[in-house]
Amino acid sequence: MVQTDQDRVTLEYRYRREGEEWQDIKEPVPLTWTPCNYGGARPWFICPGATCGRRVAILYGVGRYFLCRHCYGLGYESQREDRADRLRNKAQAIRRKLGGSANLNAPFPEKPKGMHWKTYWRLRREAQEAEHASFIALAERLNLLTERMEKI
Ligand SMILES: [Zn+2]
Repeated sequence: MVQTDQDRVTLEYRYRREGEEWQDIKEPVPLTWTPCNYGGARPWFICPGATCGRRVAILYGVGRYFLCRHCYGLGYESQREDRADRLRNKAQAIRRKLGGSANLNAPFPEKPKGMHWKTYWRLRREAQEAEHASFIALAERLNLLTERMEKI
């Protein structure tokens, strides 16, 4: 079961390690919102790991709790990267290539000297498409999590 408020989601579920009894778990996960270039805001989880508190797009139900990939030591191997992450990384890489920062909330970088306008507009369109798609993928991932919890 999932309760969603503006500033947190509360996950309630049962977990059983092999050979152990089922445990009822209630895990509140704080949410934070950042403004989105396309209007509105995007939600992030604050990882509830005891010493973590990272702002993350995805929590993994690998063990007893839903925690971020850092907490579960999942690393950054590309096959484990979520689609939303991959798309966001692509958008960030293009911004850096144009001499900007990777911050997606910063204004889009200006055309570098010596680059053709055609190239610039192509990269800019690619970056914005990737960024937009990453937001959709993230929203889908939040929904997936919700669906997964409700079935339990
Ligand atoms: Zn964590």
